[in-house]
Amino acid sequence: MRLRNIPGAKDAIEESIYVIQNPQENKGCWDKVFPQNQPIHLEVGMGKGRFLMDMARLHPEINYIGIEMYDSVLLRAIQKREALAEEGENLSNLMFMRMDARLLPEVFEKGEAAKIYLNFSDPWPKARHASRRLTSREFLARYDQILTLEGTIEFKTDNRGLFDFSLEEVPEAGWKLEAHTFDLHHNEEMMKGNVMTEYEEKFSSMGNPICKMIISR
Ligand code: SAM
Repeated sequence: MRLRNIPGAKDAIEESIYVIQNPQENKGCWDKVFPQNQPIHLEVGMGKGRFLMDMARLHPEINYIGIEMYDSVLLRAIQKREALAEEGENLSNLMFMRMDARLLPEVFEKGEAAKIYLNFSDPWPKARHASRRLTSREFLARYDQILTLEGTIEFKTDNRGLFDFSLEEVPEAGWKLEAHTFDLHHNEEMMKGNVMTEYEEKFSSMGNPICKMIISR
């Protein structure tokens, strides 16, 4: 997702109380960042943040961080968050970061994140861009550097090509496939507790089957 450049977005992000500025300064002390010291779950490529706002509301026992690399997109998430605050909803267990996920190992020590969500990640269809895919072996190695030993990754997409690529990358990168489906919305077991993302709603309403995998080490 890339929105038209929005003038003032950078300043608004730098001033937002919902954004963790200079995230690398928290490396090794993420247990002190949120009001409650509890497990941290990340969404990499959060987009406008709807999924994480719903998750944070449903799971106050988890701290969530949404990671997004584009100012214009992150600004939309901040604005939604501000609208929630105006309605009286605080969600103190949710923060955002503006960064490229390639830098995750510079921001978290091993064991500081317990789960990573990858929702409708950009497909990067050209073979020469494979290492940019968020489920490539290069990215799986980065996640390995920050997750707890029991840490898991949950990946959803409607892009069958990206999903098939990811199924091949998982064992190559030394990860284990715990569960998968090529049609999440008709899989009763895997649908339990499912929270729809913006892209999931859009593509499933067009009739696209949604694929999902859960992986661990
Ligand atoms: N997760 C949301 C959803 O399911 O509705 C948004 C999906 S959107 C297609 C993918 C998002 O990932 C885009 O907003 C893009 O900017 C972000 N993204 C892609 N690569 C990224 C990276 N390396 N680091 C951080 N964000 C990234």
